[in-house]
Amino acid sequence: MSDRHERARRDDDTGALVDAWLRAARTPDIAAQIEAIYQMIADQVAVHRPVCVGSGRCCHFRDYGHLLYTTGLEAAHTLARLAQGQELSSDDVERAIERGDCPFLIHEQCSVHTLKPSGCRIYFCDQEADGWQQDLSERVVDQFRRLHERRGIPYRYAEWRSLLAWFAAP
Ligand code: SF4
Repeated sequence: MSDRHERARRDDDTGALVDAWLRAARTPDIAAQIEAIYQMIADQVAVHRPVCVGSGRCCHFRDYGHLLYTTGLEAAHTLARLAQGQELSSDDVERAIERGDCPFLIHEQCSVHTLKPSGCRIYFCDQEADGWQQDLSERVVDQFRRLHERRGIPYRYAEWRSLLAWFAAP
């Protein structure tokens, strides 16, 4: 198969995945299950009360040597609910990759606070949070995996900006 055909087939595959995730994210009872997982995270965070000192560590991936991983379904959940004018372009994603941060970080604030994926809801740089964060993260990954299985949604767990690039308008 030529490079051109291979690229076209990959684009088709990616487009089919993006369509499936957006369809699922817009399905009310699936969206409700995602929100229920987010509420469970919020309840756990309220119990443990980690300290947020506004270090920016969670959103400046390169500076702090970490990456945000999430599912295609969660990326779709965020993107399907952006306000008008908040749409993401592939240039926005590219610039964020060059800066080493998140395309939704605007003036050092998260511009999708109520829509952000589970990794951003769980991660706090408070060192006291290490143990419970890890446990909660594993529980959440498992709950999302089971939601995909129950509803026949294609499962991909990948780096946040590389997933966003699949959805972004050229
Ligand atoms: S979605 Fe919001 S909290 Fe998460 S990395 Fe991006 S700017 Fe930070």
